[in-house]
Amino acid sequence: MIRRIDLRATDGSAGPVDYRAVVPRAELDVEAAAHLVRPVVDAVRDRGLEAVLEYTAQFDGVDLDDVVVSREVMARALEELDPDVRAALEESVRRLRATCEAELERDVTTEVAAGAVVTHRKVPMDRVGLYVPGGLAPLVSSVVMNVVPAQVAGVGSIALASPPQKDHGGLPEPTIMAACALLGVDEVYSVGGAQAIAMFGHGAGSCRKVDLVTGPGNVYVAAAKRLLRGVVGIDSEAGTTEIAVLADDSADAGHVAADLISQAEHDPAAASVLVTDSERLADDVVVQLEKQVPATRHDQRVLTALGGPQSGIVLVDDVDQGLDVVNAYAAEHLEIHTRDARAHAARVRNAGAVFVGPWAPVSLGDYAAGSNHVLPTAGCACHSSGLSVRAFLRSMHVVDYSREALAEVAGHVTVLAEAEDLPAHGRAVSIRLDDDR
Ligand code: NAD
Repeated sequence: MIRRIDLRATDGSAGPVDYRAVVPRAELDVEAAAHLVRPVVDAVRDRGLEAVLEYTAQFDGVDLDDVVVSREVMARALEELDPDVRAALEESVRRLRATCEAELERDVTTEVAAGAVVTHRKVPMDRVGLYVPGGLAPLVSSVVMNVVPAQVAGVGSIALASPPQKDHGGLPEPTIMAACALLGVDEVYSVGGAQAIAMFGHGAGSCRKVDLVTGPGNVYVAAAKRLLRGVVGIDSEAGTTEIAVLADDSADAGHVAADLISQAEHDPAAASVLVTDSERLADDVVVQLEKQVPATRHDQRVLTALGGPQSGIVLVDDVDQGLDVVNAYAAEHLEIHTRDARAHAARVRNAGAVFVGPWAPVSLGDYAAGSNHVLPTAGCACHSSGLSVRAFLRSMHVVDYSREALAEVAGHVTVLAEAEDLPAHGRAVSIRLDDDR
C-alpha cells in the first residue's frame, strides 16, 4: 500500500544524508512536463485562439468555437447554486477576506535625512489571469483562493479560466461559474491546462495578455507557468498536491491516515508522506489506510498515489531528525502531530503551509481556515510562498529629495561614481548644485 524508508541509526559515517533525495517526488516532474507542453505554449503564442481551440479538443475532448463564458450563463449558475454550497462559499470568502485585509501592506515612508524621503509604495497589478482546476475535480474553492486576495489587493482587471466539461456542454463546472458570479468576476474562459496559461501569458482571442498568472493545477499547468515566467509574472509552481505529516507516538493513527488519503484523492501523482519516530504509529497508520481507503469514493486514485514512488512512511530516530527531513522535503502542506506541536511548528523553515496539532487538518485549509490553499509544490517552498494578497501587489521606491538633501549626500555619490568609472553619473548630481555653470 505504501513503502517505508528507514533513516534510523544513520551513523553519519557515509557523510551527511541528503534528506531531499530520500523522499523522491513523482516520476513526471515539472521539468519533464515542460518539454511536453512547450509546443502548446509556442502554438498559442503564434496562432492564438485557433491553437487554444485545437488543444482544447485534443486534451479535453470538447470542440468549441470560442472559450468565452457569457455573464448570463454565470448568473444562471448562481441562481441554481445549492444554498448550502453558497453558504459554505460565503463563509470561506469571509474568513479569507479577513486575513487578506489584515495582511494588506501599506506604503512605508522613511526620511533618511532632513528633506530626503524614500517611500516604498505598493501598487496592485493592472490585470491578472487566475487558473481554477477542473480536470479530476472541479475546485470551486480555488475560485475563492484566487479571487479574494486579488480583489483585496485592488487589481483592476481579473480574468479567470477553468477547463471545459464535456457533460456541461463545454462550459466550466457550474459551481465554478456560480462562484465567479458570486464574487463579481465576469471575464471567464472555458479553457484548461497549459493552453489556458499560455492564453493568459500571450493573449488569445478576446483574452488580452495579463501581467500575472496565479492558481493551482496539475503538472502541465505548473510546467506552463515555468515556461511563461518572465513573459508574465507567476505566483508559484502550485502543482500536484503533497502532504507531509510529522508525528510522534501521541498522534491518532486514524486521523493521520485520513489526512494522507484526503490529499492522495487529488491526483494519482499526489504525494502523501508520513515522517515518524514511532514504529507503532507507522504500523497503525498502515492498518488504518487498509481500512479507510476501500471506503473512500476515489479509492483507485488514492491507491495509485499512496503506492507511487512519491509517497511513503519515513522512520526517523526522533522528532529532531524528523524536522530535518521535513525541512529538506519542503512539502506543500505539513501537519505536525507531536506532543509539543506548537514548538515543533515554530522550527519549520520550509513548507507551503503548516497545520498545527490535531484540530487543524489540511482539508480545513483547503476550504475555510482563512488561509490560502494555493501553495508551492515540488520543493519550491524553499524559495516561494503561497498565494496571498501580497502576490497581487508590486512595490516601487519613490525618491523625493530637496536641493539641500541632495547637496548633503552629493560628495558620496560622486566618489562612488568615480570608483565605478562612471563620471557622468557624478556629473548628473554636481551639475544641479554647481551655481557657476
Ligand atoms: P487541471 O485543471 O489542473 O488540469 C486539467 C487540464 O490538464 C485539462 O484541461 C487538460 O487540458 C490538461 N491535460 C490533461 N492531460 C494532459 C496531457 N497529457 N498533456 C497536456 N495537458 C493535459 O485539473 P486536474 O488534472 O484535476 O489537476 C488539478 C491539480 O491541482 C491536482 O494535481 C491537484 O493536486 C492540484 N492542486 C494543487 C494545489 C496547490 O496549491 N499546489 C491546490 C489544489 C489543487
